[in-house]
This record gives sequence, C-alpha cells and structure tokens, in this order.
Amino acid sequence: MASVPELPEVETTVRGLEKVLLGRRLERVELRRDDLRRAFPQDLGQRLTGASVVGLGRRGKFGLIRTDRGDTMVFHLGMSGKWRVDPAELHAHDHIIIDTDDGRRVTLNDPRRFGSVDLVRTSDQASSPDLAALGPEPTELDARDLREKLKGRSAPIKSLLLDQRIVAGLGNIYVCEALHRAHINPRQAAGRLSRHALERLVLAIGEVIGEAIEAGGSTLRDYARPDGELGYFSKRFAVYDREGKDCGCGGKVRRIVQGGRSTFYCPQCQR
Ligand SMILES: [Zn+2]
Repeated sequence: MASVPELPEVETTVRGLEKVLLGRRLERVELRRDDLRRAFPQDLGQRLTGASVVGLGRRGKFGLIRTDRGDTMVFHLGMSGKWRVDPAELHAHDHIIIDTDDGRRVTLNDPRRFGSVDLVRTSDQASSPDLAALGPEPTELDARDLREKLKGRSAPIKSLLLDQRIVAGLGNIYVCEALHRAHINPRQAAGRLSRHALERLVLAIGEVIGEAIEAGGSTLRDYARPDGELGYFSKRFAVYDREGKDCGCGGKVRRIVQGGRSTFYCPQCQR
C-alpha cells in the first residue's frame, strides 16, 4: 500500500526545508509547469524570486514558507508530493526548482500531482481558503470542544476524524492508529461516544501524532534520506495495513471499507 504523506511527513519536511531555506534569499525560482491539482498563482515565480525566507511552519497538512515580502507559500503534498534537497540530478516530476543564494537547491516533486502550491499574504493567512476552515491541530485538541462538534452526529467516528474541519491534519493512517489506541470501534456513531471515550481519543491522537513526528525527526539525519528526499520515513503501526495480523490483545486485525477507504481495527479490543 502506497504511503500518502500525512501530518508527520509534512512536519518532518518543513523541518528539513527549514535547515536549507531559513534566512536564505531565493536566488532563482523555476516553475516547470503552471499547475498541480490546481493552477499556481500567476505571479508565483516573480513574487518568490529574490525574496528571503523569514520563517517556515505547518498548519494541518499544509506546509508554510514565509518570505520578507509578506508572502506565504502554502504547499500541500497531496498523494505523492515530496521536496528533495540538493538532488544530484533533476527528475521528470520536479515541478518547482528553487536555488538559494548559498548554492543549495530544493525541488518540489509530485508524480501524481494531487498536491497544491499557493501564495497568500502572510497577514491574511488565517483567512485563506485552504487554511480558514481547518479545525485545531491534533496536539491542541480539547475533549470538550470535540464533544461539542460531534454532538448529535450519527456518522461513524472514523469518517468524522478525517474531516479537516473537526481536526486538522489527520489522515487515514493516524485515525486508524488513534482509534485503536483509544479502544474505540471505528464504526461507532460519533455523537454517541462517552466523555471518557473522547478523552481517551484526544490523548491517543496527540500521542500517535507526537510519536510519529519524533520518529520522523530521529531516524533521519537532517531529515533527508541519502537521496535527498524529505519527509518519508518507515513507521511501525499497530493496525494500519496489518489485516489478519495479531493485535497485542490476542485479537486479529480486520480491514473494512468506510467512505471508500480502508479502515483497520481490532474487533476484540475496539468494541
Ligand atoms: Zn486488539
């Protein structure tokens, strides 16, 4: 199963880019096409070229690169996007090439082109279309707020946790893992979860995301693989992509399909 970048990959990518870009002037910006999932802003190259990077960050699964011109480049890695650092040679799917004033190079590579790149005014960032609707970060989630949002909802908890307005940045992998850790059945109606279950869930979400970010940071020197790719690292999952395998509780992991996507869970400890 191909691994789609989720929040920990984006966070690891941003930290890797920070080492190369922070404080540097973007000497040359080459756009090798004018769109990914949607069109780039027409003046993207012009506004980035010559600008200096004053900060990097992340919101949900969006990476943010702020410049001294008051612009923020907002990127999403989609299904297959990655940044490469100082690549030995360019690949066909390197769509954006950025050279810094100290001779470093980063490229945005995205074979399937489900990613996106936008440029917003930093001062208006919070109200930009991509970011405005996002819910809280998984690590800043509050059980009481979550309870309010899920109140009366009959949709399965699994599906609602994928809704970026409820929690920002969670994807299929970490939703499965968090529900498993919290011992919650993914098919349970979200509005019917007890206060205790939601407290366990909020804790579990923070933990699985926190651990994955840590794993991403610690397994890679400078957050880049030997081939310069940022953000992807091998992970160990309790249930994700482990259909038929043993759960620690003695049960076996089952795969079901919810909303067109695979859910992995253990019927024995997630009742
Ligand atoms: Zn189990």
